[in-house]
Amino acid sequence: MVVQKFGGTSVADPDAIRRLIDIVRSARSRDGRGPAVVVSAMSGVTDALLAIAGAAGSGDQADALARADQLRVRHLAAAGDLAGAPQVLIAQINAQFDELAAVVRALAVLREVSPRTLDVIAAIGELLSSRLVSAALVQAGVPAEWVDARRAIVTNDDHTRAVPMMRETNAAIRASLQPLLDNGTVPVLGGFVGATPEGRTTTLGRGGSDYSGALIGAGLQANEIQIWTDVDGMLTADPRVVERPKLVPTLSFDEAAELAYFGAKVLHPSTILPAVERNIPVRILNSRNPSGTGTLITAEGTPQGTPLTALACKRDVTVVDVTSSRMLMAYGFLRQVFEVFEQFRTAVDVVTTSEVSVSVTVDDRRHLDAIVESLKQYADVAVEPEMALLCAVGDRLRNEPEIAARVVGVLEEVPLRMISQAASRRNITVVMRQADLPHAMRRLHEEFFA
Ligand code: ADP
Ligand code: ASP
Ligand code: MG
Repeated sequence: MVVQKFGGTSVADPDAIRRLIDIVRSARSRDGRGPAVVVSAMSGVTDALLAIAGAAGSGDQADALARADQLRVRHLAAAGDLAGAPQVLIAQINAQFDELAAVVRALAVLREVSPRTLDVIAAIGELLSSRLVSAALVQAGVPAEWVDARRAIVTNDDHTRAVPMMRETNAAIRASLQPLLDNGTVPVLGGFVGATPEGRTTTLGRGGSDYSGALIGAGLQANEIQIWTDVDGMLTADPRVVERPKLVPTLSFDEAAELAYFGAKVLHPSTILPAVERNIPVRILNSRNPSGTGTLITAEGTPQGTPLTALACKRDVTVVDVTSSRMLMAYGFLRQVFEVFEQFRTAVDVVTTSEVSVSVTVDDRRHLDAIVESLKQYADVAVEPEMALLCAVGDRLRNEPEIAARVVGVLEEVPLRMISQAASRRNITVVMRQADLPHAMRRLHEEFFA
């Protein structure tokens, strides 16, 4: 049995959902049961919901309600097209949007959106798309049943980036999905969404439906976790930067984790972990090209003979330079610096140090001002926004130091702000001005993958 997760573009409109139905059907006839289906919100819907929350919170009720109406129309139209608009589905969609309108009116009065409320609003996209897909499958003759993701994914209360509680989640997944699978039904649930043990709606962070898919795959001990998206698999570079990157046929879990963490958006960075723990292969596939072989991610991977496996990049990164105000770097300085980031729950991606200074990159700027204020108590702090990091990944970097040298050599005309290779030695990461990123990525790609 496999778990199939479909991203936003793979459920974007009735045509996409019809392709999904074919994909589900063929998995079902191959395996004789399942699959378990996890869906994202229709593409653009989460962004639209967050914009609605933003407009409502700044008092622009009319704008928020108008945007909500557009979403209502889009979902009702899809329901009509796919499922023949059964009364229950129409009523569910309308109820969801009536509730959204009520929340919008309350926020417009309060002029404040708490993370908890933001989650209630953001979750609507997945709750609706999963209802729609479930009804469409039934209409197409596939026995399917909607499952409320809030009964399957149990998380802490860190709203907008909640962390699943593994034991509780595994138990909840088995209790809510296994009986359906056992009687030949396809369970359909929204990704991205969970709930605290008290039942408050949470979300797993942007792009989190992949993570839901992996959690469900692990909880059900699936044979494979499939991530269906709009590209043929993991590519050798970000296709929005490099023209015609190549498909990476296989990856090790470790390589995939590094690529996801350093910006390959096709996979949410947390996705690999549940798969690693149960040794379940993950496959990235294109829902517009379902006969493709995609990218297969397994414990060992299958080395392809290229010096590097793929490149990844992250934009909108901020470099923070912290220089000890004392002349010499006292021990304890690094601890003090990292405690500040910890206090504000801000992850640091790349770190380099010298005797008296440490430079780090962050991509979550929410608490940056407060972090800088705190650091200034005992250090000089400089902040440089609009930076980018470029990461070259490959298991061969571990044993062949000349590959890292070649990476840096190829980039000789690009001013590099930081260079870092960590203990895993599976990646080498360089930080530069954002404006230099496209050129740097194309140069590296040409050198290693042309
Ligand atoms: P989904 O909605 O299916 O989750 P995402 O938009 O989250 O899809 O991820 C797929 C996108 O990731 C692709 O359209 C592509 O633009 C982007 N991407 C960035 N880096 C890579 C990479 N190395 N390989 C494949 N896709 C990548
Ligand atoms: N819909 C959510 C987002 O846009 C989650 C996902 O698509 O994975 O971030
Ligand atoms: Mg995604």
